Amino acid sequence: MAEGPAEDPNNGRLRSTILVIDDEIGIRKGCQRVLAAEGHDVILAQSAEEGLEILRQGRQVDLALVDLRMEGMGGLDFLVEATKISPELVCVVITAYATLDTAIESTRRGAYDFLAKPFSPEELLRVVNKALDRVSLIRERNRLQAEREQRMLELSTEKSRLRNIINSMADGVLVCNAEQQLVLFNPAALRVLPGIKRGAESYPLAEVLQPPELNDVIEEASRRRVRLSQEIRLTHLPTQAWVLADVSPVCDDTSGLFLGTVTVLRDITELKRVEEVKAQFVNMIAHELRAPLAAVDGFLSVLSEGLVKDPEQEKHMLQRCRERIRALAELVSDLLDMARMEAGRVRREIMPQKLSDIISVVVELMAPVAQQHGVTLTTQVPDDLRSVDADREELIRLFNNLVSNAIKYNRPGGTVTITAAEDGAYVKVAVADTGVGISEEGLKRLFTEFFREKRPETREISGTGLGLSIVKRIVDFYHGRLDVQSKIGEGSTFTVWLPFSTSVPSSVSAATGESREGQ
Ligand code: ADP
Repeated sequence: MAEGPAEDPNNGRLRSTILVIDDEIGIRKGCQRVLAAEGHDVILAQSAEEGLEILRQGRQVDLALVDLRMEGMGGLDFLVEATKISPELVCVVITAYATLDTAIESTRRGAYDFLAKPFSPEELLRVVNKALDRVSLIRERNRLQAEREQRMLELSTEKSRLRNIINSMADGVLVCNAEQQLVLFNPAALRVLPGIKRGAESYPLAEVLQPPELNDVIEEASRRRVRLSQEIRLTHLPTQAWVLADVSPVCDDTSGLFLGTVTVLRDITELKRVEEVKAQFVNMIAHELRAPLAAVDGFLSVLSEGLVKDPEQEKHMLQRCRERIRALAELVSDLLDMARMEAGRVRREIMPQKLSDIISVVVELMAPVAQQHGVTLTTQVPDDLRSVDADREELIRLFNNLVSNAIKYNRPGGTVTITAAEDGAYVKVAVADTGVGISEEGLKRLFTEFFREKRPETREISGTGLGLSIVKRIVDFYHGRLDVQSKIGEGSTFTVWLPFSTSVPSSVSAATGESREGQ
């Protein structure tokens, strides 16, 4: 854009560039002298064509003084051509024929004023200064317009930036006006409120928004001009979902006028699910702790009051106390395992492990329990099996859980058989029992936390419902596989596949295994 006339720092007058076009050298030189003395830059041209060429070259010209009658192109034609190149050029025509007609014709063609020859320096300056005022006005108007356009551009960039920010937010955003009409929403809002249709903006809220509770809370926040936060269950969706709606009233900064509300919707479905699991968990723990604690308390109060005289009976009671306390300790350690896994805080020392080693540790640990239950424990685990990359303690925990269940849910005189073999890229370990078996329904939910089959034959057996979900997590961690085959009354077989080690030779694990045994 062309620059405006510069301000003369010395006397405050505008310094301009003035093009003088006249075929009379005397006029050209005379104008140059007078105008240069006023501090203006003067460009001289002796024909209209030369003047046009100067404009075409893009030279900055604020004002043109042009002779009406010249050789070749005349002043009036110059006006027409000049405005094509520089539409806002202010022109003053110089004419020896200062009749009203030529004056009118020249202004009709775009001249701003005219100057009649001969003219004095004062007359020249008077007309030039008047024309320069006009130049200033045009420049000022252009400046204001450019400023306005720039502001509009900034505003629209700002608006689209704001749109982009709102659209990329993970939380849903609903903007309502003071008339309770939805005026803006983002894609995240659509995810939690699929009922809103595109183009729903500016419809009354009650017509476009489900569920009604959301409407109500927005309406209340608008009416009372307070920020409200409410958990809302989205009952209209096919799956269970919850949102936390945070509604803020918005008022104009200066006038305080109420403009509407901004609602942020946070999907809290997962949080709610965790809350539910937690509540279920606390319930279960309370239940599981209360029964054995009450039993131990009962036994101990009878014993402490010296009411039991028979030493055999006393021994029996103490034995029951120990059993109950052991079950509690088991529950606590299962809970700790779960909590550690849940928090991702399990520390593993992963190295090649010999499964024959692991199984013999488990059998050693479980032998007394098997004996107590009258169950025979047998193993068929080749010593030269390929080793697996895993944490030793975790593998012991995994098979301990399976063998412990196979004993617990067995029948007196029953058997538990542990077999292992290589199977493709895996080592396969199967724990088979001859126990109560698992129902079809039970098989579907077997690995979910706290699941326990409620059947007459399992009611007396204590447990936490956490063992198998721990087993599943461990197997999953090592990218293994888990399978259960079971028949009610006949028994169950749990099979675990673990990928065998591809790194260090198995002898390493034997040495490490020995050093950590008994921990
Ligand atoms: P817990 O044994 O502490 O109850 P688990 O997670 O180990 O918890 O097992 C979950 C449920 O699966 C048990 O309550 C039981 O009903 C069933 N179950 C597990 N193993 C066997 C098995 N070998 N035979 C029959 N039922 C079993």
